[in-house]
Amino acid sequence: MKKFFNELKCNERLRLSDACGEHPLDATSRCRAELKLALRVQRLVSQIEACGVFDFAGEDTQADEILTAGNSFFDKSYFGTRVLILAPHPDDEINVAGNMILTLAAAKAEIFVAYSTNGDFEQSAEIRAQEAVDALKILGVPRERIIFLGYGDTFNGRGKPHIFHAVAPTTSPAGFSETYAAEGFVDYAKRTFGRHAAYTRENFKRDLKSLLLELRANIIFCVDFDSHADHRALSILFEEALGEILTERSDYRPEVYKKFAYATAFTAAPDFYAPNLLSTPKPKLGETDTYDFDIIDRANYGWKNRVRFPVAENCRRTLLKDNPLAEAVFAHKSQRNEWNALRILNSDEIFFERRTDSQTFAANVSATSGDASKVRDFKLIDTPDIDATPAKFDGNLWQPAFDDAQRKIFFTWDEPAQIRQIVLYGNPLDDVPAKISLRLELAETNAVIERVVQLPSRGRPSVIELEKIFVTRAELKVVDMGRDFGLAEVEFFANADPLKKIPPFIKLTVNDNFFYRYAVPDEVEKISVGLYRFHVDAPVKITATAEGEELLSEVMDDELILNFGSAREVVLTAEVVGSDIYDRAIIRRVGDFAQIQLKVWQWLDKLRVHKIRKVDR
Ligand SMILES: [Zn+2]
Repeated sequence: MKKFFNELKCNERLRLSDACGEHPLDATSRCRAELKLALRVQRLVSQIEACGVFDFAGEDTQADEILTAGNSFFDKSYFGTRVLILAPHPDDEINVAGNMILTLAAAKAEIFVAYSTNGDFEQSAEIRAQEAVDALKILGVPRERIIFLGYGDTFNGRGKPHIFHAVAPTTSPAGFSETYAAEGFVDYAKRTFGRHAAYTRENFKRDLKSLLLELRANIIFCVDFDSHADHRALSILFEEALGEILTERSDYRPEVYKKFAYATAFTAAPDFYAPNLLSTPKPKLGETDTYDFDIIDRANYGWKNRVRFPVAENCRRTLLKDNPLAEAVFAHKSQRNEWNALRILNSDEIFFERRTDSQTFAANVSATSGDASKVRDFKLIDTPDIDATPAKFDGNLWQPAFDDAQRKIFFTWDEPAQIRQIVLYGNPLDDVPAKISLRLELAETNAVIERVVQLPSRGRPSVIELEKIFVTRAELKVVDMGRDFGLAEVEFFANADPLKKIPPFIKLTVNDNFFYRYAVPDEVEKISVGLYRFHVDAPVKITATAEGEELLSEVMDDELILNFGSAREVVLTAEVVGSDIYDRAIIRRVGDFAQIQLKVWQWLDKLRVHKIRKVDR
């Protein structure tokens, strides 16, 4: 607390001397007035802090004891687990997986961060690389695990093709035409193949594929199809590269999580200074900046199916102060993106999961017409124009020819494939549902299983659950389809749920927000508490206690209606029956005074970030 104000005072002084250089007289008096005001607020707050407020001051001993970690998600050691973050630019590592880097690094995972570009559009590669080193040091990743593929930043808009479309070598706006890295680093191509790589799509994908195979990370977090062409290029070429690996070999099946670095982080709503830390909001067309095409709820981007991870303990509070994720954002000084911390930081970190264990990668695939290989290229979307705004999608579908009366696609396996679940993805732009008949030939008995499957519109998945069977041949016939019909992927899984490095967990929610400690106004008598499940099917027991006594609550289907009665602070515990999976959280009722106190603290916190912006460069 004292330290906070000392820092504030110190920053004020720095700012004072800084501003005085420009306009000696005016600035001095203005700054002095500001300083006086800040000191007055400081005195005011130090007088009221003794009253104790919920949620941010770090003086709440009961809450601190109960909520340190507070979730079995944080109990696991990741020693021996290798993690790869694929980010287009330095600073995107935070947008893509800042919280998971921090969390997994603290749990002893071996984390590599690879940047596809040098971030050299406006600043030098040297500046961007140093900032990446500084930010990743805060998050727990050492310099030697930072990799630069060394491609150019922002190829588009200068009359040259973006590298995504570059068959012949292209030149970046910074004037480079082959990979390089900042002083003290060696670009990936030079280190691996002995020479810098010309800026072509082929080399970009070759380097990515080589990197994936060299590291063989157990878990991969990769940027998804944002509005920025560099983000899109990395997203699609990663999927292409991994799709090739999955088809060519059977000994590598990583866990893959994709992330919209813009719409669900960097340009999400600046909602940090809410009374309670909120979860990542759903992107909305026309509201979320840079979100130019309504991709959510198409293909595998069902909002309900998003993966939500809890955030590290020191990132859950309602101030940016002492928040390592915010500090990592600030470390990218040249980006002047301090306020984006308010967008990036939420009570969950969300991804869309892509399974890599489909048996389709081991199958022979053919069709009566159209390009059958499209259903196992690992790509759910692709674009003919990486720069298009709004985004354009095309080129990743198996589409039978118009005059093809059979409209069939076939899968055969040399060795019988174990199948428990089949997932079909259609065309994300198709607004008409389709009907498909499915025919599976069983190994040994040669018996046949037939099903008629409804394929939803907008490319959303159709999931077919089966008893565990062994199959030698599968046939899909399109019975009924609209004009835009196509199949993006066909996946055959041996298990409904694969074994994962990230273990199953649960998390308590209020209004669908992950919460750890939650403040509600005094007058609230009842509140509904919900539950998020990550690969957990078993029953979950939720209990509410106040001062050690269990409160009577209505519980039904992962929901608990909490009646406060006379209780001010309630501890909620959720446990998966018969396992060590648990979550704990606290709800406290607070009066007007505490709410105002929080606002004052947040105002001071904002003031501090203003100082960082102005002074620290
Ligand atoms: Zn970026």
